[in-house]
Amino acid sequence: MAQYDYDLFVIGAGSGGVRAARVSAAYGAKVAIAEEHRVGGTCVIRGCVPKKLLVYGSHFAEDLHDAKQFGWDVPECAFDWPRLRDSVLAEVTRLEGIYTNTLDSNKVEVIHERATVTGPHDITLAGGRQVTARTILIAVGAWPARPDCEGAEHGITSNEAFHLETMPKRVVIAGGGYIANEFAGIFHGFGAHVTIVNRTDQILRGYDEQIRDRLLQISMTKGIDFRFHAPFEKVEKQEDGSLIVHTGGGGDPLHADVLMFATGRVPKTRGLGLEEAGVELDKHGAVVVDADNKSNVDSIYAVGDVTNRVQLTPVAIREGQAFADTVFGNKPHRVDYTNIPSAVFSHPPMAGVGLTEAQARNKLGSVKIYTSDFRAMKNVLAGRHERALYKMIVEEQTERVVGLHMIGPDAPEILQAAAVAVKAGLSKQAWDETVALHPSMAEELVLMK
Ligand code: NDP
Repeated sequence: MAQYDYDLFVIGAGSGGVRAARVSAAYGAKVAIAEEHRVGGTCVIRGCVPKKLLVYGSHFAEDLHDAKQFGWDVPECAFDWPRLRDSVLAEVTRLEGIYTNTLDSNKVEVIHERATVTGPHDITLAGGRQVTARTILIAVGAWPARPDCEGAEHGITSNEAFHLETMPKRVVIAGGGYIANEFAGIFHGFGAHVTIVNRTDQILRGYDEQIRDRLLQISMTKGIDFRFHAPFEKVEKQEDGSLIVHTGGGGDPLHADVLMFATGRVPKTRGLGLEEAGVELDKHGAVVVDADNKSNVDSIYAVGDVTNRVQLTPVAIREGQAFADTVFGNKPHRVDYTNIPSAVFSHPPMAGVGLTEAQARNKLGSVKIYTSDFRAMKNVLAGRHERALYKMIVEEQTERVVGLHMIGPDAPEILQAAAVAVKAGLSKQAWDETVALHPSMAEELVLMK
C-alpha cells in the first residue's frame, strides 16, 4: 500500500498551481489540487484576463472619437456596461472550463474545497476529510490589502470591480500602482470621473521615472485627477449609497460612487495552518522558499504570489514548471529572475525590461541613455497630442543594452519581442544594424541616436 494518498497535493488552482499539478501528473505523479474559489485563480478569474478585456473595451471611447478623423461617420454611441461585463464574465467562465479540462485530461483530481495544512504531509479539507501527500505545494496566491481606516469596508477592490451593477460616475482609487493606473484608464474610458489618491507623490514605483512621469502627464491631460501625499483617514457612506472620502495632506473630502482600494496584494496564508506545520513565513505572511521553491519543511513547497517574489503570472507559471521538472521530472532547473519584462495596461500602456536609468547608474556607474520622444502616426492624424517615449539604457563600457522602457500605443506588444534582445545581452550596435521596419512605432528602437 502507498505510504501517502497522493504524491503531490496542490493548494490553489491558479496559474502556478495548475502548471505544477498538470506537469507533475504528466510525469506520472498522483496529484490532487484543491481550490476554494474557481479554477484559474487571480489571473484568469479576477485579474489579467478580465482586466485586459476591459482595457480593450474602454479604449473604444478614444477609437470611436478618432475614427472621425479617419473618415468614418460615427453615429452617437452609448456604452452598455452590463453587456460588456457579462460578455467578459462569460469569457472567464469559458477559460475556467479550459483550465479544468486540462487538469482532467492530465488525471489531476480537482477538489472544490478549502484545504488547510495540518502537518508536513497532512491536509484537512473543509468538509472534514483528511488526506496525506508526499509533497505539498502551496500556490494560494495573494489577496488585495485594504488600508486600516474607518469605513474602509465601504470600498471595493479589483475583485469586485468586474461585477459592478452599474458603471459609477465618480470613482476614487486608492494607491498608485499597477491596478490603480490600469483601472483609472478603464473607468475613465467608460465615462467616469477618476481620482487617484496616493500616500506618496510617486506612481508605479520601480518603473523608470521619465516613463512614469509621461503616464502621469498624459493621464492628467485626459482628465484623471491625482491627489498625492494623501493617506486615507475616513470613509463615510451617505444615505443614497454614495461615499465621502476624507484624506490627509489637505484637500476637500472627495465624493464618490465607488471607492476602489488598489494598495497592493498580500500573500493569502492566513488560516492555512502553515505556521502550525512549522513553515516559516516572512513579516508579510509570504512563504519563505529557497531557489528550488522549497520551504524550511522538506515536504512543503510554494510557488507564485504566495512567496511574494515577483507577483506576475508568467513568473508563477515558470516557478510551477521548475517545481514539477525538479521534483517529479528528474530535470532540475531554477527560474532566472533577471530581465523579466512587465507592462502596465494603462491608457496608453507602458512596458519595461531590465534596469531603469536610476538602477543602471547605481549599479554600473556610467551609462548612455538614448530616447525617442514622438507622436505615433495614428495619433497625429487623429489630432491627439499624446507623445510616446522610448528609452534605452546602455552600459557605457560594453555597449550592452541593459534596460528598455516604453510608453505608447502597443508598448507591451513591442517590448515582448525587444525583451529577447535585452535578455540575450545584445549590444546597441546589434540593434542599430537591424534595418527599420517602416512605418512602425517599433522602428524607433533601431533608430535611436
Ligand atoms: P502595487 O504594489 O503595484 O501598488 C500598490 C500601491 O498602493 C502603491 O502606490 C503603494 O504606495 C500603495 N500602498 C501600499 N500600501 C498602502 C497603504 N497601506 N496605504 C496607502 N497606500 C498604500 O499593487 P497593486 O495593488 O496595484 O497590484 C498588486 C500586484 O499585482 C502588483 O504589484 C503586480 O505585481 C500585480 N499586477 C500586475 C499587473 C500587470 O502585470 N500588468 C496588473 C495588476 C497587478 P507606495 O508606492 O508608496 O508603496
